[in-house]
Amino acid sequence: MELRTRALETILTEKGYVDAAALDSIVQAYESKIGPRNGAQVVAKAWSDPAFKQALLADASKAVGTLGHVSRVGDHLVAVENTPQRHNMVVCTLCSCYPWEVLGLPPVWYKAAPYRSRAVKDPRGVLADFGVSLPTDTEIRVWDSTAETRFLVLPMRPEGTEGWSEAQLAEIVTRDSMIGTGFPTTPGAPS
Ligand code: FE
Repeated sequence: MELRTRALETILTEKGYVDAAALDSIVQAYESKIGPRNGAQVVAKAWSDPAFKQALLADASKAVGTLGHVSRVGDHLVAVENTPQRHNMVVCTLCSCYPWEVLGLPPVWYKAAPYRSRAVKDPRGVLADFGVSLPTDTEIRVWDSTAETRFLVLPMRPEGTEGWSEAQLAEIVTRDSMIGTGFPTTPGAPS
């Protein structure tokens, strides 16, 4: 796939249809500026600011837009909140729809067929592969993304983070915790 993509890019560049420098800057922007740190800021703010959390759960596209993260890839961003009773997990069973503006580029496993099919058939098994185990009475809800609607998981704020600043909180929010295949880093534990 990588070779095919490179071959296609070479041909398109030679024919003058695409500008290689522009492609580089788009990829670089998504790798360095538009990565999961944006989502981590959103989560940290929701943990710290009850009004923002309420706005995020009511209309995530709008709330995230107020922080300057504007979507280029879809119309609706929906934030789903983890609670002790319910764990949320995101997949795109059809392809690889993903909230780029808050999480950056999707990881390879997110685009892979085994994740896409197993996430809906055996979510608990998939979570176990990620080292995530939940109490048996915690419901797991799987959200199937589309080109129009994408999901951001709002993980539970870990204990031991009382009084932390938003910047400190953002440091412990992992990408996978916002997809639902991981947890935030435990305070004090090596990352
Ligand atoms: Fe998709």
